[in-house]
Amino acid sequence: KEMSSAQLRQTFLDFWKSKGHDVEPSASLIPKDDPTLLWINSGVATLKKYFDGTVIPKNPRITNAQKSIRTNDIENVGKTARHQTFFEMLGNFSVGDYFKKEVIPWAWELLTDPKWFGFDPERLYMTVYPKDTETYQLWQDVGVKKDHIVLAEDNFWDIGGGPSGPDSEIFYDRGQKYNNVAEDDPENYPGGENERYLEIWNIVFSEFNHLPDGRYVEQPHKNIDTGMGLERVLSIFQDAPTNFETDLFLPMIREAEKLSGKKYGVNKKDDVSFKIIADHARAVTFAIGDGALPSNEGRGYVLRRLIRRAVLNGKKLGIDKPFLFDLVPVVGEIMKSYYPEPLAQKDFISHIIKGEEERFQATLNDGLDILDGRIADLKKAGEKTFPGSDAFKLFDTYGFPLELTVESAADEGLQVDVAGFKAAMQEQKDRARAARKDVNSMGSQNKLLMDIKEESQFTGYDELTTTGAKLT
Ligand code: ATP
Ligand code: MG
Ligand code: MG
Ligand code: MG
Repeated sequence: KEMSSAQLRQTFLDFWKSKGHDVEPSASLIPKDDPTLLWINSGVATLKKYFDGTVIPKNPRITNAQKSIRTNDIENVGKTARHQTFFEMLGNFSVGDYFKKEVIPWAWELLTDPKWFGFDPERLYMTVYPKDTETYQLWQDVGVKKDHIVLAEDNFWDIGGGPSGPDSEIFYDRGQKYNNVAEDDPENYPGGENERYLEIWNIVFSEFNHLPDGRYVEQPHKNIDTGMGLERVLSIFQDAPTNFETDLFLPMIREAEKLSGKKYGVNKKDDVSFKIIADHARAVTFAIGDGALPSNEGRGYVLRRLIRRAVLNGKKLGIDKPFLFDLVPVVGEIMKSYYPEPLAQKDFISHIIKGEEERFQATLNDGLDILDGRIADLKKAGEKTFPGSDAFKLFDTYGFPLELTVESAADEGLQVDVAGFKAAMQEQKDRARAARKDVNSMGSQNKLLMDIKEESQFTGYDELTTTGAKLT
């Protein structure tokens, strides 16, 4: 079945409308009255007010397409097929209304009925929390075979207190050609490292109240909260190897090709840069459109980091002038049918991004001066090694990529102590981790809070290091 991103978004919303849901427009990426969250990172994040009872919804059945930012996935962008920092989460929600018996047959209908997605049932796998025998049975009742249901111990949504419960994730088998682990690899299963099985949807059954004394008691009103990644499902409909070869990203990639003179799809390394640029362009365009501005802390720091990573990846493609701002109108055009904001504000957003690109360029030039001076001193002293600690200082203070230092030093016959660089980086990470532990001493494990913990951790411009890429 052929579907554009706009059609897919609308199909999802129409389906849930047909099941009595009201459509809520996407909320801003910047949380309102919620100091626990830096960015809206899921559909439910903007609906907390209904789930915690602060606001009673007109209709307890809600559906939405919600812009989301997850910076904990920054290192995955371009490396996995399925992660962006900015993505849209499609969701349906029951605020104390329907529960498992309704949502499972409906989910199946949406996924498999030719009127809706029309996926081949053979391609679908479900993960279920082992103690949740009811869900296990309900999937079988709609026709899912036992060998398509995977028990998963960690399928339990718990924010450390309050509403919690098991969840069930839906995976799409993209076929053998996408195997990225061996057949006999222990990670070769839906939910494991094999990207052949693409996680497309998470259905959370919030049925317990997690009490301060640790007990889980059944809630009188049970809730449903689901999240489906629009770009992932789109990649299935558009037969794309990754989320990026879809109508949501290709126009940006084409523009980046023009700006760089390089072609997408020729070599893997360049493709990673194209993907990072396309993702980060979207993220910063929307974030600035929603009122965030680059700065040295909090949200602003995230923006700065995203812009700098995009600029560095532009450099890798041979672009040496500000260019990211050129992608703003492209983002605006792609997204305008559901999100008119970026196009309406394109001049302002471009202006902010361009200024930030220019400042970073200047910082890099300052770093270059310092680097040249240091190299000259070392040569005069007859040294052969460029100290790792100096390379790290350049990296940390000027955002100066290790690769650039290595190249410049090599031109002058010096070798950078890369091990020393890594040790300095590790030391800083350890310090950051120690500081984080203090902050989180209340001991709550919060899936949503996980994102925030990551925000304050400077992990550097990951592509310059080999650390950190984790497939979660
Ligand atoms: P993954 O394991 O692939 O990182 P997740 O389990 O962290 O995904 P959930 O928190 O369950 O994701 O979010 C619900 C859905 O949102 C996912 O099933 C996926 O379709 C989508 N999604 C989550 N993170 C991203 C991302 N970084 N980029 C694109 N889509 C995402
Ligand atoms: Mg999930
Ligand atoms: Mg997952
Ligand atoms: Mg994840």
